[in-house]
Amino acid sequence: MGATSDATSDAALPGLELGEVAAVPGHLRTVRAPEFAGLVFHEVLAKSALNRVPGASSMPFSWTINPYRGCSHACVYCFARGSHRYLDLDTGRDFDSQIVVKVNVAEVLGRELAKPSWRGERVALGTNTDPYQRAEGRYRLMPGIIDALARARTPMSILTKGTLLRRDLPRLAEAAERAPVALAMSIAVADPELHRSIEPGVPTPQARLATIAAAREAGFEPDVFVMPVLPHLTDSAAQLGALLRDISEAGARSVMYGPLHLRTHVKPWFFAWLEREHPHLLPAYRSLYPGSASRAPQAYRMELAARIRPLMRRYGLEWSGGGASAEARRSRAAQPVVADALAAPGDPAPTLL
Ligand code: SF4
Repeated sequence: MGATSDATSDAALPGLELGEVAAVPGHLRTVRAPEFAGLVFHEVLAKSALNRVPGASSMPFSWTINPYRGCSHACVYCFARGSHRYLDLDTGRDFDSQIVVKVNVAEVLGRELAKPSWRGERVALGTNTDPYQRAEGRYRLMPGIIDALARARTPMSILTKGTLLRRDLPRLAEAAERAPVALAMSIAVADPELHRSIEPGVPTPQARLATIAAAREAGFEPDVFVMPVLPHLTDSAAQLGALLRDISEAGARSVMYGPLHLRTHVKPWFFAWLEREHPHLLPAYRSLYPGSASRAPQAYRMELAARIRPLMRRYGLEWSGGGASAEARRSRAAQPVVADALAAPGDPAPTLL
């Protein structure tokens, strides 16, 4: 960290007004690094690392940690986009490129976990923005977080689209000797062209499949999130079958799937992309997501289930469904879970990748 060639500023940067920088709580400095072209990092000192999940009694995790806000993976459909409004940044391009980095998150976490009041409840990472996005290559926040959780014998789950997870597999395997560790990879779009268009910052599906295989070799039983399934783009039996086959061949044993969910602040961004890239699908999407509707209708969800469940059986994949599968319970894994409408104070609500 701290390459001398970085351009740093405590004041306004081109394309970013001073007021916007100042709106980021705990702002230390703003960095543009040559090796991360197109990204702006806002380094902040966080006051807290752990976010309590409201209604945690109904969830398999009670706490989340988000070392970053914003995500350079830049998925058009990302429903954490609304969280950038809280920072007075926009939910489109700013979400993809203006990344808030909690540079002291591991240190703060260590203090929080050392309190006598800490009860060792499960902590989830990757429920909002991706902890293994590109910024992690520079800031290396995850090793400190993993070590702190392991020292406190706190169960952890990590959901990611980032292949940088491989860097930390040995460390995670060590952590798993002290507390349950669950890993999940998100892969929803297999077609290379569609992947480049709708998830332009995400590692390729092949690279993520290889990461699943590496996690298996390291002794984990990673889940795979096939989410979001995109109506008319990724939801045919042939497309789903090919993806599930590849996931199974990579060594995964369980998946969770779900159709596209278009939250209020995601919808205009998504529809603008659709109009640009697949205009012929606009009528179909307007019909599935009319007005303020954010969820695909029940009929579509049932159709999807009827299509995908037999394919899961064909490829030997269990439904992870947010609860520990029998296999996972026998192992050191603890299932990561998706929550999509919770409001965590001080940080964005848990969502999914
Ligand atoms: S869906 Fe996940 S990986 Fe994609 S931009 Fe959002 S947080 Fe990042």
